[in-house]
Amino acid sequence: MNANGYIPRRAMSIYAHPDDQDFTVAGTLAKWARLGSEIISVVITSGDSGSNDPAMDGAHKKDLAALREKEQLAANAVLGVRETVFLRYPDGELEPTVPLRKDLTRLIRQFKPDTVLTGNPEAWFYGDEYVNHPDHRAAAQAACTAVFPSAGTRLIFTDLLAAGYEPHEVKRLYIHGTEEVNTWVDITETLELKIKALQQHVSQVDPKEVEKWMREWAEEEARGQEMKYAEAYKVMILKKDEVEAG
Ligand SMILES: [Zn+2]
Repeated sequence: MNANGYIPRRAMSIYAHPDDQDFTVAGTLAKWARLGSEIISVVITSGDSGSNDPAMDGAHKKDLAALREKEQLAANAVLGVRETVFLRYPDGELEPTVPLRKDLTRLIRQFKPDTVLTGNPEAWFYGDEYVNHPDHRAAAQAACTAVFPSAGTRLIFTDLLAAGYEPHEVKRLYIHGTEEVNTWVDITETLELKIKALQQHVSQVDPKEVEKWMREWAEEEARGQEMKYAEAYKVMILKKDEVEAG
């Protein structure tokens, strides 16, 4: 499936750390934002463990979180994200708990995205040099379970219902970082924005170096497709659109 004709009215990205979204799905978000989608960016932790500087200790975590939130807001401004939500769970300790699933369910019911984008809850290893961060897997698992069944099922989390959060059915779930790809989004025109978004995370990446990797990764993800740069997904269509946009 080459889903370049598909533009959700509203899309929500759900990731564990500031910068995760920008390493992975930012080209798609920027593309959809330019085409009129409202994008909501949910960041579950504020990346407060994201430093191995010997001068840093527990007392610096709050400052680091504040800095990383600022970086994410700058990145999201580049991408054209409408709304950014920080849930402020502790970085490095994330588990796919019911309270996290409930927080994500609340956000899905509040913002009512047609599409949710997240990572791969099954990914333990990428290549032979990177053990996937457990927070990434936890975030992806909680996101998938919030999408289905929690967000759309009336009697799951009745306290949310009592607080006015009516059920909402997400139509499409975009899983990034999987080998079971069935959909390629052409990001040739928004790769520059993806790179620029990533360059806002100055505490995490060398802005001079990210460009090269991002081009390589996007080229890799487009392999075999008629496009130069892509982001590749397993897309689950949970509910068909009334008017199928292709
Ligand atoms: Zn991360």
